[in-house]
Amino acid sequence: MDYESKGRRFESSRERNTDLDASFMRQALELAQQAAALGEVPVGAVAVKDGSIVGTGLNRREIDKDPFSHAELVAMRRAAETLGVWRLTGVTVYVTLEPCAMCAGALVQSRVTRLVFGASDPKAGAVGSLYDLAREPRHNHRLEVTSGVLADECGAVLTQFFKALRQRRQDK
Ligand SMILES: [Zn+2]
Repeated sequence: MDYESKGRRFESSRERNTDLDASFMRQALELAQQAAALGEVPVGAVAVKDGSIVGTGLNRREIDKDPFSHAELVAMRRAAETLGVWRLTGVTVYVTLEPCAMCAGALVQSRVTRLVFGASDPKAGAVGSLYDLAREPRHNHRLEVTSGVLADECGAVLTQFFKALRQRRQDK
């Protein structure tokens, strides 16, 4: 249990730079497109600290044969490697799709400061859709959340992927 952060409140006064958010989300989108090219469900993520990318990830479940290879988990692991710490304080994670319960839990566990996501996931999203684990008041760590950044583009990559998949199945 982490007592250090007890009583600490997230400072919401921090200035947001929407252009910067869109720019990092574009890089996450490029990773999502790389995932699609590999036959993976296209989700991409970048982890940013002090304006620099410290970790990138794309969904690699099929390639890795690993149920935990979600884009944002891969990006968080790489960020921890880059920074040499498990505690990702000060890190912003950008991901093209609303995190699932596993990834939202990992965002809390790794003490990520801020989450920015693109498209909402009404079927599995755990940051506002089905649950809101990133802002759960009973947790000892909460994240600042910005949603809907390049949501149309982020959603379109997924829609196109599944449309093409259905098409291929019908052609068989
Ligand atoms: Zn996930």
